[in-house]
Amino acid sequence: MSRLVDIGENAVVGRLIEQLGRACENDDQLVVGPGDDCAVVDLDQADRYQLLKTDSIVEGIHYLSETAASKVGWKAVARVISDFAAMGGMPSHLLITIAMPPQTPMSYLEQLYHGMQNCASLYGATICGGETSSVPDGAAAVISVAATGWVEKNRCVRRSGGKAGDLVMVTGSLGGSITGKHLSFSPRVNQARWLTDHFEINSMMDLSDGLGCDLPRLAASSQCGYLLNENNLPCNEGTSVDQALGDGEDYELLFTVSSQIANSLRASWAKQFPDLKLSVVGELTERSEEVVVNEQGWQHFKR
Ligand SMILES: [Mg+2]
Repeated sequence: MSRLVDIGENAVVGRLIEQLGRACENDDQLVVGPGDDCAVVDLDQADRYQLLKTDSIVEGIHYLSETAASKVGWKAVARVISDFAAMGGMPSHLLITIAMPPQTPMSYLEQLYHGMQNCASLYGATICGGETSSVPDGAAAVISVAATGWVEKNRCVRRSGGKAGDLVMVTGSLGGSITGKHLSFSPRVNQARWLTDHFEINSMMDLSDGLGCDLPRLAASSQCGYLLNENNLPCNEGTSVDQALGDGEDYELLFTVSSQIANSLRASWAKQFPDLKLSVVGELTERSEEVVVNEQGWQHFKR
């Protein structure tokens, strides 16, 4: 009997998506099914799609028992909002499910919701309900956020729209999130809205598991290979290239654009967001091949 730990997350999700496949194919309203940052539904509104997202964080995995509750709450909601940004969209309504040990102090919950509320209201979203449940004393707490959002039909960006020759860009700096950023990051909603308003963004996702994991996912979704130039990685101060690729929880935007618009995009970005880096870290290629350029030169990996 194969176990989840043996199969790995990518393959687990792949197998579940395969199992769901036919039902999704038969749903006329479903524009984008499982496998992107959000599901996309066409509810016959003239110019908008509905976006759907759910996400959870678990004590001991995504945060520690001693982490301030308001920061845990911020993170739970910010992760979801980051996925709306990844589609070029906005969040609207959130449902919160918590499963906590019965011995949890009420003040902890109040602080948790304070953090969630702060993040939601900053990005124009409303917490409109949820569910409270318990786990056995001593077991890890779970916080789950289910959310609706929206995006204009002509601004909806999928992971799958990348084209060979596209340049690959990332916002901000990567690596070392565990030192604090993973609890206090700002989802890149404004940046994604500005990008999709002014430029043709071919594909986009948010960086949750690290560029080393997420770029191959985006390229595969776009049926492309990729070239990653490690010499151009925007490493956070004090972090190595390996950390920038593998630490994860950066919650920056990873997107691709035609090389023809790259220069004007970068020039406009520098004016619009002077305090936030934008880096070209590689390109999508025709071949189903992974090429990494680093100080040692070029390395090819056949998929
Ligand atoms: Mg995501």
